[in-house]
Amino acid sequence: MVEKPVISNQSQTTSINPEWLERNFPCAWACPVHTEAGRYVNLIAQGRYDEAYRVARAPNPFASICGRICAAPCEDVCRRGKLDQPIAIRALKRFVTERFGVEALIDVIKLREVLRPRLKPKDKWVAVVGAGPAGLSCAHDLALAGYRVTVFEAQEVPGGMLRLGVPEYRLPRELIRLEINAILSLGVELKLRKALGRDFSLDDLRNNGYEAIFLAIGAHKSRMLNLEGTEADGILNAVDFLLNVNLGYKVQLGEKIVVIGGGNVAFDVARTAVRQEIPADVAASDITAALDVARSAVRFGAKKVDMVVLEAAGQMLADEEEIEQAHEERITIHNAIGPKRIITQNGRVAGLEVWQVASLFDAQGRFNPQFIPGTERVIEADTIIIAIGQTADLSFIQPHHGIDFSPRGTITVNNASLATSAEDVFAGGDLAFGPRIAIAAVA
Ligand SMILES: Cc1cc2nc3c(=O)[nH]c(=O)nc-3n(C[C@H](O)[C@H](O)[C@H](O)COP(=O)(O)OP(=O)(O)OC[C@H]3O[C@@H](n4cnc5c(N)ncnc54)[C@H](O)[C@@H]3O)c2cc1C
Ligand code: SF4
Repeated sequence: MVEKPVISNQSQTTSINPEWLERNFPCAWACPVHTEAGRYVNLIAQGRYDEAYRVARAPNPFASICGRICAAPCEDVCRRGKLDQPIAIRALKRFVTERFGVEALIDVIKLREVLRPRLKPKDKWVAVVGAGPAGLSCAHDLALAGYRVTVFEAQEVPGGMLRLGVPEYRLPRELIRLEINAILSLGVELKLRKALGRDFSLDDLRNNGYEAIFLAIGAHKSRMLNLEGTEADGILNAVDFLLNVNLGYKVQLGEKIVVIGGGNVAFDVARTAVRQEIPADVAASDITAALDVARSAVRFGAKKVDMVVLEAAGQMLADEEEIEQAHEERITIHNAIGPKRIITQNGRVAGLEVWQVASLFDAQGRFNPQFIPGTERVIEADTIIIAIGQTADLSFIQPHHGIDFSPRGTITVNNASLATSAEDVFAGGDLAFGPRIAIAAVA
């Protein structure tokens, strides 16, 4: 029995009673922006595609992109899955966005019809730092609420990890461009090649009249392994590799590539010092990034790609489809082994010595991998790419800014308001919550 409606018929979430939502609409609850997936699926079933698009787009300025690459936590909790198969919510989103979304080249006036009516413009300026899904979604919502927004982006292109991390074969660049253009068409100003900490400071933004600042610079610093040999030529980190590939630069890889991936989920758990259930949105992004690295290396001409993963095959928190595609591309995934030593010759990488995992957690549930002596073997490599996760670069923060951050290297925020400990500064996305999935950054 449905006791109390919480969602209005304009598809805007007015007030949410979390328990009620979880009980009655598990998919809307699981979606970080609470998309009314059940409603748009029903509208599609009735052939009311235009309305279905409005429902999918209303809470999500990246609906078209999500139709392609969302990790779809909504499907994991779909009640239908208890009977047979969960409803293909993401595929249906793609179906409807291809007809009515930016990829159908609907004009901006039509898009405005889909969006909430604009309030009277306010004469207040907000600076958003970082043009990934978190920063651009914030800019979108502020523009709709009548604020004047400038987005400052360090790179030469906007889109964040959607553009710099996710490879083109999974997400067409044109789709990213169109979805971002729709946001900019709301009057959002975008300044490229402007990095906080390098080209300007928080104080500069305040001095230039910005009344609030939203930080959304993501997590772009690769975690490195504490292993003998990591300073050798031929060692790359995943973020640098993906950035170079996705910006069209040449990377010398050689023929034999080893990708060290996975394990970073366990690393995150270790930081909290308590073994806990890993939320799907955190877990999915880590192994996805490592698989993207391996598959990009194949496309970059590597003849042999080996992936070294601490977790056993059944423990790897990756989409089955992604793993299957990796196998089809002849990427060899070695599960339940860990790196012991990088083998070098004349200062260059020659291989990776690995050994078998005995256990990943100790009796207290802390991440503490143990290996089996005597199981060592060497995987030959011209290049080793370390893809064990990313953290944020917080070097722009000065003590006088008064911005608190956690031991995990994320900025501490109030989960509801995204306010940091500095009065006029807010933060969101991977910078505030660690690497997750795109729709979590939109939320
Ligand atoms: C390889 C890879 C594959 C992924 N695949 C998927 C997937 O299939 N599905 C999914 O849902 N999620 C996926 N993700 C996760 C998703 O891309 C991220 O969670 C999401 O992009 C985070 O959004 P964000 O806006 O917080 O940060 P980002 O997208 O990282 O954006 C941050 C932006 O800030 C800019 N910036 C950084 N420093 C500065 C500075 N000092 N000044 C100004 N600008 C700065 C960056 O250049 C960037 O444009 C993947 C991530 C990676 C790395
Ligand atoms: S955005 Fe992702 S999680 Fe939300 S309804 Fe769509 S597919 Fe599901």
